[in-house]
Amino acid sequence: MKRTKIIELLNPEMIGRDVTVMGWVRTRRGNKHVQFVALNDGSTIRNIQIVLDMAKFTDEALKPVTTGSSVCVTGKLVESMGKGQTCEVQADSIEVLGSADPESYPLQKKGHSLEFLREIAHLRPRTNTFSAVLRVRSALAFAIHKFFNERGFVYLHTPLITASDCEGAGAMFQVTTLDLNNLPKTEDGKVDFSADFFGKPTALTVSGQLEGELGATALGAIYTFGPTFRAENSNTPRHLSEFWMIEPEVSFFDNNDNMELAEDFVKYCINYALEHCEDDINFLAQMYDPELVDRLKFVTHNEFVRLTYTEGVKILEQSGRKFEFPVYWGADLQSEHERYLVEKHFKKPVIMTDYPKEIKAFYMKLNEDGRTVRGMDVLFPKIGEIIGGSEREADYDKLLARIEEMHIPMKDMWWYLDTRRFGTVPHAGFGLGFERLVLFVTGMTNIRDVIPFPRTPNNAEF
Ligand code: ATP
Ligand code: MN
Repeated sequence: MKRTKIIELLNPEMIGRDVTVMGWVRTRRGNKHVQFVALNDGSTIRNIQIVLDMAKFTDEALKPVTTGSSVCVTGKLVESMGKGQTCEVQADSIEVLGSADPESYPLQKKGHSLEFLREIAHLRPRTNTFSAVLRVRSALAFAIHKFFNERGFVYLHTPLITASDCEGAGAMFQVTTLDLNNLPKTEDGKVDFSADFFGKPTALTVSGQLEGELGATALGAIYTFGPTFRAENSNTPRHLSEFWMIEPEVSFFDNNDNMELAEDFVKYCINYALEHCEDDINFLAQMYDPELVDRLKFVTHNEFVRLTYTEGVKILEQSGRKFEFPVYWGADLQSEHERYLVEKHFKKPVIMTDYPKEIKAFYMKLNEDGRTVRGMDVLFPKIGEIIGGSEREADYDKLLARIEEMHIPMKDMWWYLDTRRFGTVPHAGFGLGFERLVLFVTGMTNIRDVIPFPRTPNNAEF
């Protein structure tokens, strides 16, 4: 079927042509002389207006042309006299491809709440809001690959099923084919995982970093971009149980190089969206967040503040603020603390570095002080932590000491330690939660609204 997408119809050069356009009816209105259909096909936030001269059509034929129905229209693209659009289609024919019973189609009127739309996530991409968010999401995914490709990074596919239980980033979802109602047991009464599919316990990955390090210490610079899973019971607007993560890992990089890469990277992605998703971002700004475009430009135009954890804690302690979670040196900073620094104190994105070793993962490089590690988190307005990363401990003995100190089960980790046994190099990397970036760029406030089908505790619908 030959059709022209609505985004192409909006090109002024198309005016005067005979076109075929297909899409879903957003609204129909008019009188007995002329009817107007607002049609959308998902290629743009903009609808095309279909003008139906009632001398050519019967009421009966137009009856199934209701909100939500799908139609195929042929006609001439002409300049529009009406307000709010530059062109419209003067229809010669309209064929209903699929009707949508007005009694049961749930997206009749505009202005449904985001909460309600989550309950009909199978249909919400048909709304302006979600089609805009999903186009921005897609553009950002492309920008990510473009950025790393332009810099010569190798896209490394790390496994989703893993047998290492020490990734350490969060609680894991078990993967098993055992019959849960009839578990095989060993002599001492434990579950006999040797009878399981992989012959041992396995789980969905919480991060591709450890395998990413294997790639980086061979290919020089790699990135991953794939789904990750965390079985944490965190019901916050910033946590999903299944989310996408981007994890670059680079050999011969120290933590400063790492910060520079992170800053360039997020700025590049935001600029890409500003450039390629103008209509969608403007729509979202108008609907949800009038300061959105300013905030995005603010991030791309300003240098991120860099400060150590110790300096950050001092600022928080001296702020005179009452936080829900107390602040002291050694405390794991909460989103309220991060947002205070970013939104109230500096009014700029912040890269915080050199955290107490106790609150960070075993693989972070120990500083000379013996107390802090070369971690770096990028903190954003409205979001808090958007990136977490570090320079990695490249020294075999120091890494082993940390592993023992933290009682990390290392029996399956010989392959990771081998990177430090054979030709070890300084290297660094970070993880960016893709949905947190999409949240920031779209101005949405709940992470459930920036992924097509969110998975959260007690919700795996659709
Ligand atoms: P947080 O403290 O916000 O839970 P984290 O310290 O667990 O984050 P990391 O393990 O460093 O995060 O993961 C790297 C990045 O992945 C984070 O900076 C964040 O952008 C994102 N991220 C982490 N957990 C989630 C989640 N449950 N849902 C969506 N994104 C997440
Ligand atoms: Mn977390």
